[in-house]
Amino acid sequence: MTGFVLWFTGLSGAGKTTIANNVEPELERRGLVVDHLDGDIVRTHLSKGLGFSKEDRDTNIARIGWVASRLARAGAVVIVSAISPYEELRRHARSLVEQHAPFVEIFVDTSLEECARRDPKGLYARAFAGEIEDFTGVSAPYEEPLDPELRLETAGRTPSESAAAVIERLEQLNLLPGRVESEA
Ligand code: ADP
Repeated sequence: MTGFVLWFTGLSGAGKTTIANNVEPELERRGLVVDHLDGDIVRTHLSKGLGFSKEDRDTNIARIGWVASRLARAGAVVIVSAISPYEELRRHARSLVEQHAPFVEIFVDTSLEECARRDPKGLYARAFAGEIEDFTGVSAPYEEPLDPELRLETAGRTPSESAAAVIERLEQLNLLPGRVESEA
């Protein structure tokens, strides 16, 4: 059985990691083998040493796409949460994956104002102060997905409500087995 790739894209602080962390246990409850490639973690291992220039971001996303395609081919469900700001590189990742398995792109659509208000890592304050170069949404572009499998507005929704919307979309796409009910 092949897996699939669930690719979360959006601004820093949009909620990609938080929502992915809510989706992951539900997939495991359904008996799926899940791996989570989170942008921040990938940058400490697979992409250690890469920065945030266009070239380095492209290399990072190409690597994640390649690894995701291999894992999905081997049967895993791969959750990716990475800003992945460039449409061309997301398309490249999709084409690698789709040689083997479905690719489900989730646009975590949170406005720049809201991300800057949340500022969970204090990065927006530094970016607006000019202390961080090439910061997505402030001093580097974010190209919104044109045709994602799901656009998720997070304003007015809890992370677990957003995760439920992701699960519902995966069910619509026939990618999920039913829940395994424990025997009484
Ligand atoms: P990203 O992975 O997109 O950079 P994170 O998930 O690391 O974003 O951070 C999002 C932050 O926003 C978290 O601290 C989360 O608790 C907070 N947050 C507040 N409201 C929401 C919401 N409605 N949906 C998702 N995250 C939210």
